[in-house]
Amino acid sequence: MNVRSVGILCLGLTASDPRNAQDHPPTIDLVITHALVLDVRTGNVLPDRAVLIDHGVITRVARGSGATLPPAARIIDARGRLLTPAFVDSHFHTGFVFADSITATGGGITHLIMDPDSIEAYRRVVAKLYLPYGVTVVRDVGSAEQDLPMLIAWMNPSPHAPDFYPVGAQLVSPESGRVSPPFQAALADSQAAARKVAEYYKLGIRNIKLYWRLREPEFKAALYEAQKLGMNVTGHVDQRVMTIGRALDLGLRNYEHMFTLALSVLTDGELDSLYAGVPEHLGVTRETASGVHGLFFLITMEFWNYIGRDNPRMLALIEKFKADSASLTPTLHVIAQRLGLTYFTSPPRGAFEDASAFTPRQRERALDGYRIMVTYLIRLYQEGIRLNLGTDTHDPGQAGLSEMLLLHDAGIPMAAVFKIATLTSAQDIGQEARYGTIEAGKRADLILFDRNPLKDPRGLLGPKTVIKDGVVWSNTN
Ligand SMILES: [Zn+2]
Repeated sequence: MNVRSVGILCLGLTASDPRNAQDHPPTIDLVITHALVLDVRTGNVLPDRAVLIDHGVITRVARGSGATLPPAARIIDARGRLLTPAFVDSHFHTGFVFADSITATGGGITHLIMDPDSIEAYRRVVAKLYLPYGVTVVRDVGSAEQDLPMLIAWMNPSPHAPDFYPVGAQLVSPESGRVSPPFQAALADSQAAARKVAEYYKLGIRNIKLYWRLREPEFKAALYEAQKLGMNVTGHVDQRVMTIGRALDLGLRNYEHMFTLALSVLTDGELDSLYAGVPEHLGVTRETASGVHGLFFLITMEFWNYIGRDNPRMLALIEKFKADSASLTPTLHVIAQRLGLTYFTSPPRGAFEDASAFTPRQRERALDGYRIMVTYLIRLYQEGIRLNLGTDTHDPGQAGLSEMLLLHDAGIPMAAVFKIATLTSAQDIGQEARYGTIEAGKRADLILFDRNPLKDPRGLLGPKTVIKDGVVWSNTN
């Protein structure tokens, strides 16, 4: 144990010593000494730092040797281990964790009880899924409106659960014959779209999610209202209702899911013939294709096989992304885990994500598509386009670490992966003033790694001390 209850770091007297009560500095909550601090802005590691924490906030980062430090209620001697900011998951859904049934495309249907005790109990469930893995801030990008009392209650910060930034429900346009699931809000027209955004704003919500089922009139109205109110807007744009190029022109700057870029560079004719031809490529007939489990992954990756490497249309979209300073949350894990590329795999929640019966040829083609997709992800990274950490699954803490390893496997250096998981994700949800770096004034949300992931990326999965709001949540000391 290297944690002492009361530390005397400089003068040899504590604040409680009656001889010194007048002129001694007050005791602060926590000091972490002898830490190797990662500066995610530069990727540099700063040796022998002392991080001072009081009332949940980093108050100072001092050079350890020779610095005069105030007495602290608790001291953790990092012994040269790596200290980093904790992680931000910018793509979560409560419906994935609390679903008692699943829609055909994977949305979670919840029947939660909205009394204060239940809301608190549900929050503890989410905390256990995140905090042991070092994720201390979460954006929910679409949950049921019936669960709004819970989403709003969770916005009240607690050291015992991740800080929580909901969007309300995903915004969609109505479609004849389609009943929207509870985690979507159907907006009849542009006035209804603006009203919904304003209604969420009044509830304290500051993030909005535009879903691909939103048509341009409602899309524009929701986007402009949110921008007028200073809210953050992210969008999942695909399936030909809108394109990413058009959404960029309208002013949307944050996008979800790398795979969606494929749909935005293919013409309607190409998509039609791909949808028609894909089953044959994959060795199934059109009639039996709907019975193929995990077909979504096969088809989506087949789009990338068609696009191929160095496709001028994809490169032009990336240029546009860069010119418009847009950001992307790749969510690789959700696909990669079905292709055997991840350190853990969640059991499929339904046929739509069951890849266990893929033939070797199907798996190989999907892997080819995935490899092509990540060449463009690297291009985005090399062009300086901001990438964010997002999980989009029901075991999100573990998936967050997996996502980081996949970003590294794709070719992004670990220090840059840490920047993605911390500072840029905090920027993506509009909270870079509070999170994402180890600097005075930021929340004391930190991870102390027993094994340095900058030296061996698998150190991410190793033992770690997680600190949230200056409170030690899990301790390996
Ligand atoms: Zn999602």
